[in-house]
Amino acid sequence: MIDPPMLRNDCFALPPGVDWVPMQDALAALAARMHSVVGSETIALGAAAGRRLAEDLHAFRANPPAPNSAVDGYGFVGPVPEGVTDMPLAEGRAAAGVPFEGHVPEGHAIRILTGAILPDGVDTVVLQEDCTVEAGRVAFRGPLKRGANARKAGEDVAAGDVLLSAGRRLKPQDIALLAATGHGTVPVFRPLRVGVLSSGDEIVPPGSVAPEAMRPGQIYDANRVMLLSQLAQWGFEAVDLGLAPDSRDGLRALLDGARGQVDAVLTSGGVSTGDEDHVSALLSREGQMAHWRIAIKPGRPLALGTWGNLPVFGLPGNPVAALVCTLLFARPALEVLAGGTWFRPEGYMLPAAFSKRKKPGRAEFLRARMAADMRVECFASEGSGRISGLGWANGLVELDEQERQIEPGDSVRFIPYAAFDG
Ligand code: AMP
Ligand code: MG
Repeated sequence: MIDPPMLRNDCFALPPGVDWVPMQDALAALAARMHSVVGSETIALGAAAGRRLAEDLHAFRANPPAPNSAVDGYGFVGPVPEGVTDMPLAEGRAAAGVPFEGHVPEGHAIRILTGAILPDGVDTVVLQEDCTVEAGRVAFRGPLKRGANARKAGEDVAAGDVLLSAGRRLKPQDIALLAATGHGTVPVFRPLRVGVLSSGDEIVPPGSVAPEAMRPGQIYDANRVMLLSQLAQWGFEAVDLGLAPDSRDGLRALLDGARGQVDAVLTSGGVSTGDEDHVSALLSREGQMAHWRIAIKPGRPLALGTWGNLPVFGLPGNPVAALVCTLLFARPALEVLAGGTWFRPEGYMLPAAFSKRKKPGRAEFLRARMAADMRVECFASEGSGRISGLGWANGLVELDEQERQIEPGDSVRFIPYAAFDG
């Protein structure tokens, strides 16, 4: 049982004098500061999808464990030359789970079904559809190579092979491989518990006040439910920490309550340096806080702090910026905290279906979607409050720091949302 240490409370501090950081440098710095903070447990394989492996896993058994037939047909020793071949059929048959125990003499064939172990004296199989069977004989046309329609033992995985490495987030496909190679339980990391809180006096939980009863200036809390849902989709245990008013005491109470209950916190709103930006103010005075001025749009500063030893990712309040910063920065960092490995989401160079004048100096992320013709469209407005564009999109277009004039047909880097699933 591993019980790793918490992060150090000054883990996010930047060296003095660091100003606007290019995004890739910020990501590298963040990656260097993260380590796993979760212990491990062994659970049933069937419950392990979405969990992260705590150890490298080896195959206990080969796949396939024995040579077997890939089709329903007739087995014999190959190869078979061009032209018509006609063989006497041996008594009996080989079926999946019911092996033929005897020996098939050379020049004889035996009835064999898909998945059956190749009997002694069989290394090649002919498809039943290609055969005529009559009076105890089977006839078909060659040529057939030795080994045709047969699977070799261990051709997929040999016993002892490394199957999957520690940190891997198990997919249903991995679960199949583990089952096939003899695993009934798996060592996995305990799910990372990630708390989410929103902040702002204007914010109202959805469902708590009818639209017509909302006071002017009040807005529904879109971020908290978005982030909680997103975290759950990534295999984290998402914990609702509630809504903090724009007051230091209220926020302090929520953060104190989060200690021991979660392993990391995402906050949204209140991270600029305005009068009401209490997340920054409280963390700077009573915890640790560094404003990472990262050269990206949308973003503003990303506030990375600790409350005690609890890492806090202070996201911007605008839902678009909150999601983009979560995807780009919190996502890979949380993966490492959860026992996984840092990753850069895979992007694809695709032709743009839009034109845009891109200013130099910072990277930009546009809400985008890949259309059926593989061209990438961008959401009509870049406004950071346009929540409708988040769901319209199925990913982001990343434009690097360079100045650029993009015209339809030019290549742009498209990162599907799914690439952040890890
Ligand atoms: P802030 O970072 O607190 O200055 O907030 C920036 C903008 O995002 C303001 O227009 C806020 O009203 C808005 N905002 C902040 N938190 C949320 C939230 N949880 N849901 C929706 N909008 C928010
Ligand atoms: Mg605010």
